[in-house]
Formats: sequence, structure tokens, C-alpha cells
Amino acid sequence: KLSQRLEAVTNYIPSGARVADIGSDHAYLPCYAVKKGIVPFAIAGEVVEGPFQSAKSQVEMEGLLDQIAVRKGNGLEVINSGEVDCITIAGMGGALIATILEEGKSKLDSVQRLVLQPNLSAISIRTWLIEHGWELIAEEILEEDGKIYEILAAEKGEPLKPYKNAEQGLLMGPFLIEEKSAVFQTKWQGELRNWERILMQLEKAADTEETEKRKQELKQKIKMVEEVLNQ
Ligand code: SAM
Repeated sequence: KLSQRLEAVTNYIPSGARVADIGSDHAYLPCYAVKKGIVPFAIAGEVVEGPFQSAKSQVEMEGLLDQIAVRKGNGLEVINSGEVDCITIAGMGGALIATILEEGKSKLDSVQRLVLQPNLSAISIRTWLIEHGWELIAEEILEEDGKIYEILAAEKGEPLKPYKNAEQGLLMGPFLIEEKSAVFQTKWQGELRNWERILMQLEKAADTEETEKRKQELKQKIKMVEEVLNQ
């Protein structure tokens, strides 16, 4: 059975799209999307030999070799120009996802939709999207097995279209702020406790210019997040 997290990612793949799943590991996501009839064709990309072999075995075992191409390579280099209209990247840090998009920019011409699931630092992705003319169209936050995940869906849109509250939006997600679900609140209460703890340690540390700067930054972030949670 597919994880709730990956199933949620597939919900944002447009029906009938040709999709590339980058960092596919066991290729669970593309196998599920093809079997469900969501997509007719998929590429499973993997840069590491072990996961690449797992993806191949899984696709073969499920009898999906005609519909899923398993390819070894770094990021978007496994995609030929014009081959797909949707890309999914799930289960990595946001900074790595942003790097993969940046390095693979030339492969995005035919792509209409990005579905990205960072395990942390979604801010890196929102920043990249804004700077490259991708418009965030939906966000979701969910909890599974005690971990909290975010999903970001984007389409080619207005370049540099700012969020309503730019700074808060980049950090916490404009749709997620609007919705303020229980999971969202749990996530940011946790971050607040974390930052408060760091702040307390910094209060004890030697009073250098550097610690003073970090304290100010943390206080500002805490204030910003509290403001959103108390709205
Ligand atoms: N996408 C699956 C999921 O969400 O369950 C697997 C996530 S797994 C934690 C991350 C995978 O991304 C690993 O198998 C890793 O080898 C792969 N990966 C990391 N960097 C990559 C890159 N630059 N290009 C392709 N795959 C990459």
C-alpha cells in the first residue's frame, strides 16, 4: 500500500499527464499513478545505483515496463526535452529539490506542473518558484507516522508574483497560512519551542556580535510565526 504522503502527491498530478518522478527510489509513486490510470506514461529517475535497481525490479515485478522508463542519472538529466508535462520530487530536503530544479532548468520548457514534497525547508522551494516564474497553486500539510510533510504544487505563472505577506508566506506557505490546519499549528508550535530553546542557550553564551545577530534573527522569526498562529 502506498504511503498517505505519496498518495497525496499523486493527487496533484494532472490526469493524463506524462510524469517524471525524480529520486524515485522504489518507483512506488509512478507505479501507483500508472496502475490507477492517472498517467499513461512515467519516468522514474534515480541517481544512486541501489535505489535505481530497486526501481527497476519494482517496475518489472508489477509488469509496467511498457509504461514506466526507469533511468539512472542526476536530477532532471534523465528527461529528454519535451518528454513530460509534470515532474514530481518527493522525500528530500527543500534545498536539494531547489538545486535539482535549478540545474535542470533547461528541461522545464514542456513542463506545466511541478509537485514537490520537501521533508524540510519548503522556504527554499517557494523562493526558487517565485524567482523562476512558477506560481504556487496549492499546498497541503499532513502528518504520517509522527512526521509532518508539506506538498507544494506549482504551475508556470506570473514571474515574481509576490505573496500577500511575503516573508511569512515564503516561510510558512500562503495557502497553509490561510487554512491554518491542526497539523500546521503542531508543526509551527514545534518550531517555536525549538527556537525558544536555542534562544535560551544563546542568552547564556558569550555576548559577541555574532550571537547578538543570531538572537535578533531568532526573535524576529519567533515574532513572525507567533503572529501567524495568533491571527
Ligand atoms: N521519492 C521517494 C519517496 O518520496 O518516498 C524516495 C525518497 S528518498 C528519501 C530520496 C531519493 O532521492 C533517494 O533514493 C536518492 O538516491 C534520490 N536522489 C537524491 N538526489 C538525487 C538527484 N540529484 N537525482 C536523482 N535522485 C536523487
